[in-house]
Amino acid sequence: MNVRIAKNSGFCFGVKRAIKIAMNAAENDKNTVTLGPIIHNPQMVQKLKNQGIISVDSLEEVKGRRVIIRSHGIEEDKKRKLLEKSAEVIDATCPYVSKTQQHGAQLYNEGYKVIIFGDENHPEVVALKSYVPNNQALVISNETELENFHFNKVGVISQTTRKLSGLQKVVEKLLEISAEVRVINTICNATSVRQEATAKLAKASELMIVIGGKNSSNTKMLARICNEHIKTFHIETSDEIRKEWFDDIKENLGITAGASTPDWIIVEVYNKILEYIGDEEKQIEKFDDIPIFKEDKC
Ligand code: SF4
Repeated sequence: MNVRIAKNSGFCFGVKRAIKIAMNAAENDKNTVTLGPIIHNPQMVQKLKNQGIISVDSLEEVKGRRVIIRSHGIEEDKKRKLLEKSAEVIDATCPYVSKTQQHGAQLYNEGYKVIIFGDENHPEVVALKSYVPNNQALVISNETELENFHFNKVGVISQTTRKLSGLQKVVEKLLEISAEVRVINTICNATSVRQEATAKLAKASELMIVIGGKNSSNTKMLARICNEHIKTFHIETSDEIRKEWFDDIKENLGITAGASTPDWIIVEVYNKILEYIGDEEKQIEKFDDIPIFKEDKC
């Protein structure tokens, strides 16, 4: 059986950078915390905890310690308070997320009503909204929420992990109800590339295994994309895999992983699948040895 992984699976640039920053901090000073989990992956958060970096939920818990701002960023006023309360602030916000925050403020300052396409409860969007002055941004999760609105000048930005097709529908609707529409495509390339590669693999597979935090927005999106094509299981670790999932699979099994899924978990899952399908001799030691799905071979 072919067990293949989608191109670009696993850590993206921003997550790799944040983890590296946190690991370096752990080596230098054990009195360091992250405000909220550094990424949406419980296993990685636990690993950092084992190295002495714990995640705290409130500014009060930070008092006097070094604090790392996670890859999703934090609200502007919280960042200001952190600078007052902590011994040192280490900013691991992904540079692409910071850029989106700047775009939000810039659109507002140029007179646009700012629309954020995203999940209003996601930490990245909560932070992004705070960078648009006077709490003036409108967050929408899809174009149907724009019924009954009319805009003169409207500017739209997106949560970095959203699907491009979703943003396109929002823009189409805005064009119907606005005099002027400015679009800044802030969807991260790492996200769209991963989603496209995942969709291609799902179309060529009889079953998809999606690996990543159940609280990870980009992983949940990958699972949704796979589900549109084929039966899919979303798991966090190899312990969740059941042997009977593979009973009817004859030829092609696909794996993909969210941007916050560590390599070691992907390797464990791959090896567990091989064990269950009786292909133990093909088990691997490192992530780079997993066969990548190449569309032209399909
Ligand atoms: S998905 Fe993109 S924007 Fe989000 S952390 Fe990764 S590189 Fe940064």
